[in-house]
Amino acid sequence: MTTQTVRGRRRASGPASEYPVAEAVMTVRPRDAHRDARRRKSLFNQVTDFASASGVGQKAGIALAATGLVLTVTVPSTGPMMSTADTGKNAAAASFAAQPEVSAAAGAKIDFNRTSVATKGDPDGKLKQLLSAQSVGTITRAASAGSLGAPLEHLVTASPFGFRVSPITGGAGEFHRGQDYAAQCGTSVMAAASGTVTFSGWHAYGGGNRVVIDHGNGLETTYNHLSSSSVQVGQKVSRGDVIALSGTTGASTGCHLHFEVMVNGDVVDPLGWL
Ligand SMILES: [Zn+2]
Repeated sequence: MTTQTVRGRRRASGPASEYPVAEAVMTVRPRDAHRDARRRKSLFNQVTDFASASGVGQKAGIALAATGLVLTVTVPSTGPMMSTADTGKNAAAASFAAQPEVSAAAGAKIDFNRTSVATKGDPDGKLKQLLSAQSVGTITRAASAGSLGAPLEHLVTASPFGFRVSPITGGAGEFHRGQDYAAQCGTSVMAAASGTVTFSGWHAYGGGNRVVIDHGNGLETTYNHLSSSSVQVGQKVSRGDVIALSGTTGASTGCHLHFEVMVNGDVVDPLGWL
């Protein structure tokens, strides 16, 4: 009870009570900064958001972000949500690089590369044209819709983007940074568009095993809670390439894919791009 009160107060004293993270994002977004600066801000936001979502104190997340240790240091949680199951997840993460073989569970769908098949013409050409024509931050939802391919063969929404009751803490007003799609662990995860892998590894603040793809012009997609990844940083991928297998690593309550779309370092609703 005391912990909940403290967390509530902490959340309220940082991000405001009604729309916490959105306000923070809007106020801290650097408008004229270079791309590097935006990327640092992006990481910062990810850390603090995941930190609050997973019960790690925001101050700890901020301090670690400042020291550049965010991706290599795990802060012990002060909250009740770090169950013993997390130990198993961390152990699984240790073998992330080894890419453990995952056999398809009963009922698993056969991957037929939907993103390439379902989109006629040259979807990446369309996306590149869209991104080069204007600043990615000013692209309308009408223009961007359909420009990214689905990261799974079948998209079944488990939890939408935006504010929600946290499935982990039970607290209201959590900002959910992406779309959660139902997927049995071991389901093929596909690149939403061509791009370059900029991160493939353990995200210590809730994302678990995570892959980030940079599509250029400020557009990025992230794939989280993976059981394994088959790509490395710097690798070029094509739309529809299988880049990972879904899982439940990190701050996750079950097998699913947490998919994010980032524009200039800030998360946006993936539905505006799919
Ligand atoms: Zn999620």
